[in-house]
Amino acid sequence: FNVSSFDKKYLSDMSANDNKKDSKAQREIKEKCFIVVFGASGDLAKKMTFPSLFQLFKLDLLPSKTKIIGYARSDMDNDKFMEQVAGGLEGEDEKKVEEFKKLAKYVRGAYDEDEAFQNLENELQTIAGDEFDGESHRLYYLAVPPSQFTSLAQMLAKNNKPNSDNKANTKTLSSRLVIEKPFGKDSESCQKMMKDIAEAGWEQKEIYRVDHFAAIETIKQLPYLIFAQPSPFSPHSLLNKNHVQAVMIELKESFGCEGRGGYFDEFGIVRDVLQNHFMQVMTMLAMDRPDSLDGDELRDEKVKVLKSIAAVDPKDESSYILGQYTKSKDGKKPGYTEDESVENKESKTATYAEMVLKIDNERWQGVPWILKSAKAIEEDIMRVIVHLKPHEDSGFTPLYEGTKPSALVFELFETKKVYFSINSRKPGFVGGPTRSKVVLDWDSEEAQKEGKSLDPYAVVIGEAIRGREENFVREDELYEAWRIFTPFLKHIESEAGPKPEPYEYGSEGPEGFKKFEEKLGYQAG
Ligand code: NDP
Repeated sequence: FNVSSFDKKYLSDMSANDNKKDSKAQREIKEKCFIVVFGASGDLAKKMTFPSLFQLFKLDLLPSKTKIIGYARSDMDNDKFMEQVAGGLEGEDEKKVEEFKKLAKYVRGAYDEDEAFQNLENELQTIAGDEFDGESHRLYYLAVPPSQFTSLAQMLAKNNKPNSDNKANTKTLSSRLVIEKPFGKDSESCQKMMKDIAEAGWEQKEIYRVDHFAAIETIKQLPYLIFAQPSPFSPHSLLNKNHVQAVMIELKESFGCEGRGGYFDEFGIVRDVLQNHFMQVMTMLAMDRPDSLDGDELRDEKVKVLKSIAAVDPKDESSYILGQYTKSKDGKKPGYTEDESVENKESKTATYAEMVLKIDNERWQGVPWILKSAKAIEEDIMRVIVHLKPHEDSGFTPLYEGTKPSALVFELFETKKVYFSINSRKPGFVGGPTRSKVVLDWDSEEAQKEGKSLDPYAVVIGEAIRGREENFVREDELYEAWRIFTPFLKHIESEAGPKPEPYEYGSEGPEGFKKFEEKLGYQAG
């Protein structure tokens, strides 16, 4: 391995990419943009979509001349809609919030009637006529339950997108459809949803499938950490089968499904987290070097990783643990099926899932990737731990007794840190080995001088405006992710499927999970 040739090649490619960006600039919406938020009366719109748009507005990252149209069926007057728009902006600069509210307007209508969409079109064209010289770009953001995706996509394609049947709005410069998972419930339903949306008249390059995990700062840092220079993160250095004992990707939440049981009981934790978010994390960490960070090259490498993962075998019960929480020890927190929002009191839906996947390629052969997600558990954590092999297994003889295997830890949530946990000397006279962290922190004062990391939802909308398709889930990526999980989901939801093991609300998880991890060579801490 030749360090200098690696460096030179990478750096020259990076600058080539910078040049390529110019050709992409035309995809960026720079002005005259309608951001139409469907489901504007809902929780996601209030808590995430409008606050994210506000973050972009505050940083001057929205296209000049942007109008935000909230669309829903609810009967809201302007005051009520403004409450919804500003509902998630408490503590923000009031003057800025007032300026932001001036960009927003509410349009009421159904999700499945042509007339309602023609009415929306008239509104948009009137505003465009008054303020955008008649022209406009359109970003349609679907903050509605997934049952509405297809119908909305069809209605928009028919009534609001310029096409052969609809010549009325040829001054629409571009149309983008932004949708967020769940994309179906299995391979078949996902393919049907995508087929219906495509047949309605949406081209692949117009569909922005969101996985906000791909927009988390730490995940966006990965290709830079791994491929921008020789470092402990480089594929030939530590991130390979010779040095990695096991990788743990974990999302633990201390709260249960209180109030969201309706949605959750239909989907469960495997669909909610493992099949989509964890596949983003896994592919970004495991992929080989893409030729560039944009276009299709990045996603080509992610898909290659997915293709190297065998479908989870539901019959192999040693490869997974499923659990469901019961009430807390003190009885104050309800068990999953005791929650009012969970209708099926016999539900077998897992609120804890832990399973092992392997990547069958030269670099990762044999390394267990443990995916673990849980609700109502003792702590809130979202991170990846790359647990390195004991020194002797890597052919290394430590100088001191009592040293432990090292770990690379990628925090994904709030702290946004990456650290290398290594052996070092206890400072002072006596000495002896201790653990230290080599930390990279994007929230430090120094790092923030370079740029402030944004909330993932703001990144998602910002990237959709910039036309950066590479940050969204490509169709084949989605199908591969479903291929891995569909047989397993079908089995656990069948009559013959296993009953999840109970664990107390606020506990560490179902009995046996530690043994499961130890057997894979993973040691917590
Ligand atoms: P809501 O249930 O609040 O739905 C949003 C809006 O959609 C509602 O205000 C309602 O508007 C309309 N709507 C609701 N149910 C139906 C229905 N059955 N038929 C037609 N319209 C309906 O959902 P959220 O805002 O919580 O979430 C929206 C989407 O985002 C969902 O897909 C969800 O899974 C996803 N999501 C939500 C998160 C959250 O924190 N809330 C987090 C991550 C993803 P109206 O009746 O006024 O038209």
